[in-house]
Amino acid sequence: MSTQQPEPNELAPATIAVHHGRPPVEPNQAMSAPVVLSSTFVSSNDGFRPEDRGYGRWDNPTWAALEETVGALEGGRALAFSAGMAAVAAVLDLVPLGGTVVMPTGAYSGSTQLAQQLAAEGLLNVREVSVADTDAVVAALEGADLILIESPTNPLLDVADLAAVGEAARAAGVLFAVDNTFATPLRQRPLDFGAQLVIHSATKYLSGHSDVLLGLTVTTDDELAARLHTYRTLRGAVPGPWEAWLVLRGIRTLALRVDRAGANAAELARRLVDHPAVGRVRHPSLPTDPGHERARTQMSGFGAIVSIEVRGDSAAADRVCAATRLWVHTTSLGGVESTLERRRRYPSESVAVPETLLRLSVGIEDVDDLWRDLDAALRQA
Ligand SMILES: *Cc1c(COP(=O)(O)O)cnc(C)c1O
Repeated sequence: MSTQQPEPNELAPATIAVHHGRPPVEPNQAMSAPVVLSSTFVSSNDGFRPEDRGYGRWDNPTWAALEETVGALEGGRALAFSAGMAAVAAVLDLVPLGGTVVMPTGAYSGSTQLAQQLAAEGLLNVREVSVADTDAVVAALEGADLILIESPTNPLLDVADLAAVGEAARAAGVLFAVDNTFATPLRQRPLDFGAQLVIHSATKYLSGHSDVLLGLTVTTDDELAARLHTYRTLRGAVPGPWEAWLVLRGIRTLALRVDRAGANAAELARRLVDHPAVGRVRHPSLPTDPGHERARTQMSGFGAIVSIEVRGDSAAADRVCAATRLWVHTTSLGGVESTLERRRRYPSESVAVPETLLRLSVGIEDVDDLWRDLDAALRQA
Protein backbone atom coordinates (compact mmCIF):
# COMPACT_ATOMS: atom_id res chain seq x y z
CA MET A 1 0.00 0.00 0.00
CA SER A 2 1.19 3.52 -0.65
CA THR A 3 1.49 6.17 2.04
CA GLN A 4 -2.07 7.21 1.05
CA GLN A 5 -3.58 4.18 2.69
CA PRO A 6 -7.30 3.66 2.14
CA GLU A 7 -9.37 3.16 5.28
CA PRO A 8 -9.36 -0.57 6.10
CA ASN A 9 -13.14 -0.79 5.87
CA GLU A 10 -13.01 0.53 2.30
CA LEU A 11 -10.98 -2.47 1.23
CA ALA A 12 -12.53 -5.64 -0.12
CA PRO A 13 -11.90 -8.82 1.91
CA ALA A 14 -9.61 -10.29 -0.77
CA THR A 15 -7.38 -7.22 -0.40
CA ILE A 16 -7.46 -7.29 3.40
CA ALA A 17 -6.37 -10.94 3.27
CA VAL A 18 -3.28 -9.92 1.32
CA HIS A 19 -2.31 -6.62 2.97
CA HIS A 20 -3.20 -6.68 6.67
CA GLY A 21 -0.88 -7.83 9.43
CA ARG A 22 2.33 -6.66 7.77
CA PRO A 23 5.08 -4.46 9.16
CA PRO A 24 4.75 -0.76 8.22
CA VAL A 25 5.55 -0.16 4.56
CA GLU A 26 8.76 1.80 5.13
CA PRO A 27 12.29 1.47 3.77
CA ASN A 28 14.14 -1.58 5.11
CA GLN A 29 11.14 -3.01 6.94
CA ALA A 30 10.46 -6.69 6.33
CA MET A 31 7.72 -7.40 3.79
CA SER A 32 6.24 -10.19 5.90
CA ALA A 33 5.51 -10.38 9.62
CA PRO A 34 8.37 -12.24 11.32
CA VAL A 35 7.98 -15.36 13.43
CA VAL A 36 8.85 -14.03 16.88
CA LEU A 37 10.16 -16.93 18.93
CA SER A 38 10.48 -15.48 22.40
CA SER A 39 8.92 -16.55 25.68
CA THR A 40 9.31 -13.12 27.24
CA PHE A 41 9.73 -9.47 26.32
CA VAL A 42 12.05 -6.91 27.91
CA SER A 43 10.33 -4.85 30.62
CA SER A 44 10.14 -1.10 30.84
CA ASN A 45 11.47 0.38 34.07
CA ASP A 46 8.32 2.46 34.75
CA GLY A 47 6.10 -0.31 36.04
CA PHE A 48 3.87 -2.49 33.82
CA ARG A 49 2.09 -0.40 31.20
CA PRO A 50 -0.99 -1.60 29.25
CA GLU A 51 0.96 -1.56 25.98
CA ASP A 52 3.71 -3.81 27.34
CA ARG A 53 3.87 -7.34 25.94
CA GLY A 54 5.35 -8.84 29.07
CA TYR A 55 5.27 -12.62 28.87
CA GLY A 56 4.86 -14.93 25.88
CA ARG A 57 1.62 -16.40 27.20
CA TRP A 58 0.01 -12.96 27.26
CA ASP A 59 0.93 -11.67 23.83
CA ASN A 60 3.18 -12.28 20.84
CA PRO A 61 3.81 -10.09 17.77
CA THR A 62 3.17 -12.96 15.33
CA TRP A 63 -0.20 -13.67 16.94
CA ALA A 64 -0.93 -9.94 16.77
CA ALA A 65 -0.29 -9.86 12.99
CA LEU A 66 -2.68 -12.79 12.49
CA GLU A 67 -5.28 -11.35 14.87
CA GLU A 68 -5.22 -7.97 13.14
CA THR A 69 -5.86 -9.65 9.79
CA VAL A 70 -8.67 -11.96 10.91
CA GLY A 71 -10.21 -9.14 12.97
CA ALA A 72 -10.33 -6.93 9.87
CA LEU A 73 -11.82 -9.76 7.79
CA GLU A 74 -14.60 -10.53 10.28
CA GLY A 75 -15.14 -6.96 11.50
CA GLY A 76 -14.15 -7.39 15.17
CA ARG A 77 -11.31 -8.11 17.59
CA ALA A 78 -9.66 -11.49 17.04
CA LEU A 79 -7.80 -13.72 19.49
CA ALA A 80 -5.77 -16.74 18.41
CA PHE A 81 -6.02 -20.01 20.38
CA SER A 82 -4.11 -23.29 20.29
CA ALA A 83 -6.85 -25.05 18.26
CA GLY A 84 -10.40 -24.52 17.09
CA MET A 85 -11.55 -26.55 20.10
CA ALA A 86 -9.72 -24.22 22.50
CA ALA A 87 -11.75 -21.36 21.00
CA VAL A 88 -14.98 -23.39 21.30
CA ALA A 89 -14.11 -24.26 24.92
CA ALA A 90 -13.42 -20.61 25.73
CA VAL A 91 -16.83 -19.59 24.36
CA LEU A 92 -18.69 -22.41 26.15
CA ASP A 93 -17.01 -21.34 29.39
CA LEU A 94 -18.73 -17.94 29.06
CA VAL A 95 -21.93 -19.74 30.13
CA PRO A 96 -22.47 -19.29 33.88
CA LEU A 97 -22.55 -22.38 36.09
CA GLY A 98 -25.86 -24.18 35.51
CA GLY A 99 -26.66 -22.01 32.49
CA THR A 100 -28.02 -23.16 29.14
CA VAL A 101 -26.45 -23.34 25.70
CA VAL A 102 -28.39 -23.87 22.46
CA MET A 103 -26.47 -25.84 19.82
CA PRO A 104 -27.25 -27.39 16.42
CA THR A 105 -28.27 -31.01 15.96
CA GLY A 106 -25.66 -32.71 13.83
CA ALA A 107 -22.96 -30.06 14.07
CA TYR A 108 -19.22 -30.54 14.54
CA SER A 109 -18.90 -33.56 16.83
CA GLY A 110 -16.05 -32.11 18.90
CA SER A 111 -18.13 -29.10 19.94
CA THR A 112 -21.16 -31.27 20.67
CA GLN A 113 -19.08 -33.75 22.67
CA LEU A 114 -17.55 -31.01 24.80
CA ALA A 115 -20.94 -29.44 25.54
CA GLN A 116 -22.38 -32.86 26.41
CA GLN A 117 -19.45 -33.60 28.71
CA LEU A 118 -19.92 -30.28 30.51
CA ALA A 119 -23.62 -31.12 30.80
CA ALA A 120 -22.85 -34.60 32.21
CA GLU A 121 -20.69 -32.92 34.85
CA GLY A 122 -23.65 -30.72 35.79
CA LEU A 123 -21.94 -27.51 34.66
CA LEU A 124 -24.43 -26.48 31.98
CA ASN A 125 -27.54 -27.60 30.08
CA VAL A 126 -27.55 -28.25 26.35
CA ARG A 127 -30.55 -27.77 24.05
CA GLU A 128 -30.08 -29.17 20.57
CA VAL A 129 -32.13 -27.72 17.70
CA SER A 130 -32.14 -28.00 13.94
CA VAL A 131 -30.68 -24.62 12.95
CA ALA A 132 -32.60 -24.69 9.67
CA ASP A 133 -35.86 -24.45 11.67
CA THR A 134 -35.92 -20.80 12.74
CA ASP A 135 -39.08 -21.17 14.86
CA ALA A 136 -37.45 -24.02 16.82
CA VAL A 137 -34.27 -21.98 17.29
CA VAL A 138 -36.20 -18.94 18.55
CA ALA A 139 -38.25 -21.13 20.93
CA ALA A 140 -35.04 -22.70 22.31
CA LEU A 141 -33.66 -19.26 23.23
CA GLU A 142 -36.10 -18.88 26.10
CA GLY A 143 -34.04 -18.71 29.30
CA ALA A 144 -30.79 -19.63 27.49
CA ASP A 145 -27.43 -17.93 28.07
CA LEU A 146 -25.62 -18.74 24.82
CA ILE A 147 -26.54 -19.91 21.34
CA LEU A 148 -23.53 -21.38 19.54
CA ILE A 149 -24.35 -22.44 16.00
CA GLU A 150 -22.69 -23.31 12.75
CA SER A 151 -24.06 -22.29 9.37
CA PRO A 152 -23.64 -24.24 7.19
CA THR A 153 -23.37 -27.05 9.76
CA ASN A 154 -20.68 -29.73 9.75
CA PRO A 155 -21.48 -32.15 8.08
CA LEU A 156 -25.23 -31.78 7.37
CA LEU A 157 -24.86 -28.34 5.70
CA ASP A 158 -28.01 -26.98 7.32
CA VAL A 159 -28.27 -23.22 6.87
CA ALA A 160 -29.55 -20.96 9.67
CA ASP A 161 -31.30 -17.63 9.13
CA LEU A 162 -28.55 -15.57 10.77
CA ALA A 163 -30.42 -12.25 10.79
CA ALA A 164 -33.54 -13.81 12.36
CA VAL A 165 -31.50 -15.66 14.99
CA GLY A 166 -29.47 -12.51 15.67
CA GLU A 167 -32.61 -10.46 16.23
CA ALA A 168 -34.27 -13.09 18.43
CA ALA A 169 -31.07 -13.58 20.47
CA ARG A 170 -30.77 -9.84 21.07
CA ALA A 171 -34.41 -9.59 22.12
CA ALA A 172 -33.96 -12.56 24.50
CA GLY A 173 -30.63 -11.27 25.86
CA VAL A 174 -28.81 -14.43 24.72
CA LEU A 175 -25.19 -14.32 23.62
CA PHE A 176 -24.99 -15.32 19.93
CA ALA A 177 -21.88 -17.11 18.63
CA VAL A 178 -21.32 -18.52 15.13
CA ASP A 179 -18.66 -21.06 14.20
CA ASN A 180 -17.75 -19.66 10.78
CA THR A 181 -15.20 -22.35 9.86
CA PHE A 182 -17.07 -23.62 6.79
CA ALA A 183 -17.97 -20.27 5.24
CA THR A 184 -14.79 -18.28 6.07
CA PRO A 185 -15.10 -14.48 6.42
CA LEU A 186 -14.87 -14.23 2.62
CA ARG A 187 -18.26 -15.90 2.25
CA GLN A 188 -20.12 -14.83 5.38
CA ARG A 189 -19.65 -12.28 8.19
CA PRO A 190 -21.83 -13.32 11.14
CA LEU A 191 -21.04 -10.15 13.14
CA ASP A 192 -22.94 -8.20 10.44
CA PHE A 193 -26.04 -10.31 11.25
CA GLY A 194 -26.08 -9.65 14.97
CA ALA A 195 -23.68 -12.31 16.25
CA GLN A 196 -21.47 -11.09 19.11
CA LEU A 197 -18.90 -13.84 18.62
CA VAL A 198 -17.34 -15.71 15.74
CA ILE A 199 -15.27 -18.89 16.11
CA HIS A 200 -12.83 -20.37 13.61
CA SER A 201 -10.98 -23.58 13.31
CA ALA A 202 -8.14 -21.97 11.33
CA THR A 203 -6.86 -25.53 10.97
CA LYS A 204 -9.24 -25.68 8.00
CA TYR A 205 -9.71 -23.00 5.32
CA LEU A 206 -7.87 -20.06 6.88
CA SER A 207 -4.57 -21.96 6.89
CA GLY A 208 -5.66 -24.12 3.96
CA HIS A 209 -2.71 -26.50 3.65
CA SER A 210 -3.42 -29.26 6.22
CA ASP A 211 -0.25 -28.44 8.14
CA VAL A 212 -1.27 -26.61 11.31
CA LEU A 213 -3.79 -26.53 14.20
CA LEU A 214 -5.08 -23.16 15.39
CA GLY A 215 -8.33 -21.53 16.48
CA LEU A 216 -9.68 -17.99 16.74
CA THR A 217 -12.45 -16.04 18.37
CA VAL A 218 -13.62 -12.67 17.03
CA THR A 219 -15.93 -10.28 18.83
CA THR A 220 -17.15 -6.70 18.54
CA ASP A 221 -17.57 -6.48 22.33
CA ASP A 222 -14.51 -5.17 24.20
CA GLU A 223 -15.60 -6.72 27.49
CA LEU A 224 -15.98 -10.15 25.88
CA ALA A 225 -12.61 -9.74 24.18
CA ALA A 226 -11.01 -8.97 27.56
CA ARG A 227 -12.67 -12.00 29.20
CA LEU A 228 -11.54 -14.29 26.41
CA HIS A 229 -8.02 -12.87 26.58
CA THR A 230 -7.86 -13.56 30.31
CA TYR A 231 -9.25 -17.06 29.73
CA ARG A 232 -6.61 -17.77 27.08
CA THR A 233 -3.80 -16.44 29.26
CA LEU A 234 -4.76 -18.30 32.43
CA ARG A 235 -5.59 -21.60 30.68
CA GLY A 236 -2.46 -21.36 28.50
CA ALA A 237 -4.64 -22.04 25.45
CA VAL A 238 -2.14 -20.22 23.24
CA PRO A 239 -0.85 -21.09 19.77
CA GLY A 240 2.84 -21.27 18.94
CA PRO A 241 4.26 -18.37 16.92
CA TRP A 242 5.08 -20.74 14.04
CA GLU A 243 1.47 -21.86 13.91
CA ALA A 244 0.23 -18.27 13.86
CA TRP A 245 2.66 -17.47 11.05
CA LEU A 246 1.55 -20.49 8.99
CA VAL A 247 -2.10 -19.44 9.29
CA LEU A 248 -1.31 -15.87 8.27
CA ARG A 249 0.71 -17.21 5.35
CA GLY A 250 -2.29 -19.31 4.31
CA ILE A 251 -4.70 -16.37 4.54
CA ARG A 252 -2.71 -14.53 1.85
CA THR A 253 -4.21 -16.91 -0.75
CA LEU A 254 -7.58 -17.46 0.95
CA ALA A 255 -9.57 -15.62 -1.72
CA LEU A 256 -8.09 -17.67 -4.56
CA ARG A 257 -8.54 -20.94 -2.70
CA VAL A 258 -12.15 -20.41 -1.65
CA ASP A 259 -13.06 -19.23 -5.16
CA ARG A 260 -11.54 -22.25 -6.85
CA ALA A 261 -12.64 -24.83 -4.28
CA GLY A 262 -16.15 -23.34 -4.18
CA ALA A 263 -16.47 -23.47 -7.97
CA ASN A 264 -15.23 -27.07 -8.00
CA ALA A 265 -17.69 -27.99 -5.23
CA ALA A 266 -20.68 -26.46 -7.02
CA GLU A 267 -19.77 -28.25 -10.25
CA LEU A 268 -19.29 -31.61 -8.53
CA ALA A 269 -22.55 -31.19 -6.58
CA ARG A 270 -24.37 -30.52 -9.85
CA ARG A 271 -22.92 -33.67 -11.45
CA LEU A 272 -23.44 -35.84 -8.35
CA VAL A 273 -27.20 -35.14 -8.30
CA ASP A 274 -27.56 -37.38 -11.36
CA HIS A 275 -25.13 -40.09 -10.23
CA PRO A 276 -26.75 -43.55 -10.04
CA ALA A 277 -24.77 -44.48 -6.88
CA VAL A 278 -25.74 -41.33 -4.99
CA GLY A 279 -28.99 -40.66 -3.14
CA ARG A 280 -29.15 -37.22 -1.62
CA VAL A 281 -26.59 -34.49 -2.38
CA ARG A 282 -26.26 -31.60 0.07
CA HIS A 283 -24.68 -28.34 -1.06
CA PRO A 284 -26.28 -24.90 -0.68
CA SER A 285 -25.40 -24.06 -4.30
CA LEU A 286 -28.04 -26.52 -5.55
CA PRO A 287 -31.35 -24.74 -6.33
CA THR A 288 -33.13 -27.77 -4.81
CA ASP A 289 -31.17 -27.54 -1.52
CA PRO A 290 -33.36 -26.44 1.42
CA GLY A 291 -30.68 -23.91 2.42
CA HIS A 292 -30.19 -22.44 -1.06
CA GLU A 293 -32.32 -19.28 -0.86
CA ARG A 294 -31.12 -18.42 2.64
CA ALA A 295 -27.47 -18.99 1.74
CA ARG A 296 -27.89 -16.79 -1.33
CA THR A 297 -29.01 -13.85 0.79
CA GLN A 298 -26.49 -14.11 3.64
CA MET A 299 -23.43 -15.66 1.96
CA SER A 300 -21.39 -14.49 -1.02
CA GLY A 301 -20.79 -18.05 -2.23
CA PHE A 302 -21.64 -21.51 -0.95
CA GLY A 303 -18.44 -23.02 0.39
CA ALA A 304 -16.58 -26.13 -0.70
CA ILE A 305 -17.99 -28.90 1.50
CA VAL A 306 -20.44 -31.25 -0.22
CA SER A 307 -22.15 -34.10 1.64
CA ILE A 308 -23.54 -37.07 -0.27
CA GLU A 309 -25.51 -40.13 0.77
CA VAL A 310 -24.19 -43.22 -0.99
CA ARG A 311 -26.91 -45.68 -2.09
CA GLY A 312 -26.76 -48.96 -0.17
CA ASP A 313 -25.35 -49.36 3.31
CA SER A 314 -22.42 -47.98 5.33
CA ALA A 315 -20.16 -50.70 3.88
CA ALA A 316 -20.86 -49.34 0.39
CA ALA A 317 -19.94 -45.86 1.59
CA ASP A 318 -16.74 -47.23 3.16
CA ARG A 319 -15.87 -48.90 -0.15
CA VAL A 320 -16.05 -45.51 -1.90
CA CYS A 321 -13.50 -44.10 0.57
CA ALA A 322 -11.23 -47.09 -0.01
CA ALA A 323 -11.51 -46.89 -3.81
CA THR A 324 -10.54 -43.30 -4.55
CA ARG A 325 -7.02 -42.73 -5.76
CA LEU A 326 -6.85 -38.93 -5.90
CA TRP A 327 -9.29 -38.02 -3.13
CA VAL A 328 -7.60 -38.80 0.17
CA HIS A 329 -9.54 -40.78 2.77
CA THR A 330 -8.93 -38.72 5.90
CA THR A 331 -10.60 -36.56 8.45
CA SER A 332 -10.37 -32.76 8.60
CA LEU A 333 -11.19 -30.44 5.72
CA GLY A 334 -10.44 -27.11 4.11
CA GLY A 335 -7.05 -27.95 2.60
CA VAL A 336 -6.01 -27.49 -1.02
CA GLU A 337 -6.29 -31.29 -1.35
CA SER A 338 -9.66 -32.99 -1.86
CA THR A 339 -10.53 -35.37 0.97
CA LEU A 340 -13.49 -37.51 1.98
CA GLU A 341 -14.76 -39.29 5.05
CA ARG A 342 -17.76 -41.24 6.33
CA ARG A 343 -18.53 -39.31 9.49
CA ARG A 344 -20.58 -42.00 11.22
CA ARG A 345 -17.48 -44.21 11.45
CA TYR A 346 -16.95 -42.27 14.70
CA PRO A 347 -19.13 -43.36 17.63
CA SER A 348 -19.15 -39.69 18.73
CA GLU A 349 -20.90 -38.52 15.53
CA SER A 350 -24.54 -37.45 15.89
CA VAL A 351 -27.18 -40.04 14.97
CA ALA A 352 -28.78 -37.23 12.94
CA VAL A 353 -25.99 -37.84 10.40
CA PRO A 354 -26.93 -40.73 8.05
CA GLU A 355 -24.68 -43.85 8.17
CA THR A 356 -24.08 -43.58 4.43
CA LEU A 357 -23.15 -39.89 4.42
CA LEU A 358 -19.75 -38.98 3.01
CA ARG A 359 -18.42 -35.51 3.68
CA LEU A 360 -16.40 -34.29 0.73
CA SER A 361 -13.92 -31.47 1.27
CA VAL A 362 -13.39 -30.24 -2.26
CA GLY A 363 -9.93 -28.88 -2.98
CA ILE A 364 -8.43 -26.79 -5.75
CA GLU A 365 -7.38 -29.55 -8.17
CA ASP A 366 -8.68 -29.82 -11.72
CA VAL A 367 -12.41 -30.50 -11.45
CA ASP A 368 -12.46 -33.17 -14.18
CA ASP A 369 -9.67 -35.12 -12.47
CA LEU A 370 -11.71 -34.98 -9.26
CA TRP A 371 -14.88 -36.07 -11.04
CA ARG A 372 -13.26 -39.03 -12.84
CA ASP A 373 -11.75 -40.37 -9.61
CA LEU A 374 -14.91 -39.95 -7.55
CA ASP A 375 -17.16 -41.31 -10.29
CA ALA A 376 -14.99 -44.41 -10.65
CA ALA A 377 -14.94 -45.01 -6.88
CA LEU A 378 -18.73 -44.61 -6.66
CA ARG A 379 -19.31 -47.05 -9.52
CA GLN A 380 -16.95 -49.59 -7.99
CA ALA A 381 -18.77 -49.52 -4.67
C1 LIG B 1 -12.52 -28.80 12.90
C2 LIG B 1 -13.60 -27.98 13.46
C3 LIG B 1 -13.51 -27.48 14.76
C4 LIG B 1 -12.37 -27.83 15.71
O1 LIG B 1 -11.17 -27.25 15.31
P1 LIG B 1 -9.71 -27.86 15.66
O2 LIG B 1 -8.80 -26.87 15.05
O3 LIG B 1 -9.66 -29.22 15.07
O4 LIG B 1 -9.60 -27.92 17.15
C5 LIG B 1 -14.53 -26.65 15.22
N1 LIG B 1 -15.58 -26.35 14.43
C6 LIG B 1 -15.70 -26.82 13.17
C7 LIG B 1 -16.89 -26.44 12.35
C8 LIG B 1 -14.72 -27.65 12.64
O5 LIG B 1 -14.85 -28.12 11.39
